[in-house]
Amino acid sequence: MQTIHSLADMTCWSNEVIGSGSTIALVPTMGYFHEGHLELMRSASRLADRVVVSLFVNSLQFGPSEDLASYPRDLARDSSMAADENVDILFVPTDIEMYEPDFNARVRVDGITDTLCGKQRPAHFEGVTTVVAKLFNIVKPHITVFGQKDFQQFCVIRKMIRDLNWDIEIVAHPIVREEDGLAMSSRNTYLSREERGKGLCLHKAIQHAKKRFDNGLTDAELLKSEIHDIISAYSGVSIDYISVVDKNNLSDKEVIDSNSVLALAVRVGQTRLMDNCFLGNDTETSN
Ligand code: AMP
Repeated sequence: MQTIHSLADMTCWSNEVIGSGSTIALVPTMGYFHEGHLELMRSASRLADRVVVSLFVNSLQFGPSEDLASYPRDLARDSSMAADENVDILFVPTDIEMYEPDFNARVRVDGITDTLCGKQRPAHFEGVTTVVAKLFNIVKPHITVFGQKDFQQFCVIRKMIRDLNWDIEIVAHPIVREEDGLAMSSRNTYLSREERGKGLCLHKAIQHAKKRFDNGLTDAELLKSEIHDIISAYSGVSIDYISVVDKNNLSDKEVIDSNSVLALAVRVGQTRLMDNCFLGNDTETSN
């Protein structure tokens, strides 16, 4: 595995690979790898000839009171983890080269970003789409792999690719979980032992929702109120949202059907945790 910092070197590598007729898969990340990231890398290496993993803690997607400064970073650890996978390039651009002092461009996807996390984090998705657009232009991938863990992010990037006519296939990888069901996340490192236990409220809610849907419940309001009760039973957990949305356009569902996704976000202490599941056809690997 080679590590590239310079944008020009990255594009030069990609041009050579494309010129030789090979395909490139890109896995964008903010680093501090866990098994979820590694699964995305493995999936990418099955889908394309060469794999580029980008590692960039993107300041543009953090709000002023969010955790940009404390976001976990460990390049040496991440490099050795990625090197054990089939990764060709770990692309680690610098802040200064990505966002030069006079950087003014923004890429925005309307509509689909107004709901779920977009409601609470107004500039977040604009930061995500801007950086991913830059990564697409620099790396020129044929395929990109995103996690279903950040389901809205996946939908927003898919929409951006369609709307802007990038010839890139986007693939969603199922949520990778700890043995007890907690969805893996770099932010889980913020949790104390006690908070980590409380974080399991999300998986408990998801299991309940799947069971209720499998047993014939289709009333979204009723399901949401049952989930509200399950999560509220955990002290110190506050609910950001409990939503049942359409998996294609994220519009709210009144009647749950096989296109429905349950999306949850809570705060455990200071830490924001997210989880989701398809209610109709479950594509998750590890439950
Ligand atoms: P991050 O480094 O947190 O920005 O995540 C980089 C990519 O990994 C995104 O596409 C995430 O959706 C994905 N990802 C993070 N956690 C998981 C997980 N537990 N399972 C599957 N994908 C994940």
